[in-house]
Amino acid sequence: MGKPTGFKEFKRETATRRSVESRILDWNEVYLDIAEEKLKVQGARCMDCGIPFCHGPNGCPLGNIIPEWNDLVYKGRWHDAIEMLHKTNNFPEFTGRICPAPCEEACVLGINEKPVTIKSIEQNIIDHAFEKGWVKPCPPATRTDKKVAVVGSGPAGLGCAAQLNKAGHLVTVFERADRVGGLLMHGIPNFKLEKHIVNRRVDLMKAEGINFVTGANVGFNIKVEDLRRDFDAIVLCGGSTKARDINVPGRDLDGIHLAMTYLPMQNKINFGAHIPEQEFISAKGKHVIILGGGDTGADCLGTAIRQGCKSVQQFELLPKPPTGRVQDMPWPYWPMIYRVSSAHEEAAAPIGHDVRDFAINTQSFSGENGVVKKLHGIRLEWEMQGSRPAKMKEIPGSEFTLDCDLCLLALGFLSPEPEGPISQLGVKLDQRGNVSVDQNYMSNIPGVFAAGDMRRGQSLVVWAISEGRQAARGVDEFLMGRSDLPKMKLF
Ligand SMILES: Cc1cc2nc3c(=O)[nH]c(=O)nc-3n(C[C@H](O)[C@H](O)[C@H](O)COP(=O)(O)OP(=O)(O)OC[C@H]3O[C@@H](n4cnc5c(N)ncnc54)[C@H](O)[C@@H]3O)c2cc1C
Ligand code: SF4
Repeated sequence: MGKPTGFKEFKRETATRRSVESRILDWNEVYLDIAEEKLKVQGARCMDCGIPFCHGPNGCPLGNIIPEWNDLVYKGRWHDAIEMLHKTNNFPEFTGRICPAPCEEACVLGINEKPVTIKSIEQNIIDHAFEKGWVKPCPPATRTDKKVAVVGSGPAGLGCAAQLNKAGHLVTVFERADRVGGLLMHGIPNFKLEKHIVNRRVDLMKAEGINFVTGANVGFNIKVEDLRRDFDAIVLCGGSTKARDINVPGRDLDGIHLAMTYLPMQNKINFGAHIPEQEFISAKGKHVIILGGGDTGADCLGTAIRQGCKSVQQFELLPKPPTGRVQDMPWPYWPMIYRVSSAHEEAAAPIGHDVRDFAINTQSFSGENGVVKKLHGIRLEWEMQGSRPAKMKEIPGSEFTLDCDLCLLALGFLSPEPEGPISQLGVKLDQRGNVSVDQNYMSNIPGVFAAGDMRRGQSLVVWAISEGRQAARGVDEFLMGRSDLPKMKLF
């Protein structure tokens, strides 16, 4: 429980960011390490609240046993802490870096004080464990004779594969990209998650006996019938990759790109891959406008800044959210509030204000010689229902035109791609176009399961890992008639 009086004695401290001036010159992670002694103090703030909402339904989707490891860190028992953490989370080195930490929003101390620094503690437990050499390949003692194919190597596929391997099944992960990791590897920029962290875990999984096949596009160069014949179960973890687009005049001009066309290119360059100059989309020397005010937009922002853009702006259709909780976003729910990411801080530094502008609609693009030059927008007025935007209307006379040589569309994702394994296997979709499954994550086709963004729609890494783990439990039960893998009720 930490120190009984810790929450009264100590103030919240989190990891600090490197200075804007230094971090925009490289692609390395933004956050500095936090000293061990400081973390112990932060662990001491956990107050034995009785009902730890941090790992309840509104907190950690993995059910991480947070108060216990806070206490272990406070007592300096780091080895026990990683043992405890690994019971519920296969990849704390990912979530400790990039999870938005719903656990902290649900922390009981957060009702009238700043919450416990849960995410930094999580990251440091695993970083410490790697440093000490405590994280070693742990292959299963015995193997079943069952084989499982996992399609997609994002956090859902990795989480699922790790759990199935623990249960003794022989797992092959098929990934169409040239590297394993899904969005951890290709979408999320290095300044949030350096890629050697992903590779380190994948190497451990290989050493534990999991087989990875890259360049394997299931439904295309790998036939689904072959998977059905050669494996006892299939788990679809292909993500939610169909991006939302904008349908306005001028959209077909060159220089307007989906965020997930733009971001992976820089990640590839950071791996040391070569992309011919004429194919590489760079913000260097350009007036950049990002449409979409979410995390993907922020990732485009940090990337454009590091590439040396001339100017950058980010537009959001919705109104500016409140800066703190309001009546209809009570504790312990996740509040939709105004947040300043590291990229927003970087963009604001030279001009002294946020580059985001809210309640903006794009009306059209115009250009020269087929290349975009201007974005034409208009301001919106929103009718609100409490803190929720309900209805919008354009404000007459508020039209504006801005220079724009590169427009990045970060407008969210609609669903998985229906082509490929989904249609070829005849898997049923729900109303939103995601794979529909039962409580054991099995689709309408016996032996075919789904997890992660492909099942729940574009979400979070922590949810993907959680779903992958739960689908593994469903597969294990399907194959063996019972399972010792942990079970959580998720949906
Ligand atoms: C730019 C960006 C930034 C984000 N930042 C964050 C963040 O900071 N924190 C956070 O929690 N979440 C973030 N997210 C969301 C998070 O990355 C996703 O929710 C998560 O990765 C989903 O995991 P997944 O395994 O379901 O799918 P994905 O990570 O999308 O992985 C799916 C994999 O399946 C492969 N695949 C698809 N079809 C096939 C096929 N037919 N054959 C073989 N392979 C196939 C794909 O190539 C891909 O590698 C971000 C998303 C984006 C787009
Ligand atoms: S995975 Fe996310 S929600 Fe869970 S403990 Fe870590 S930071 Fe909190």
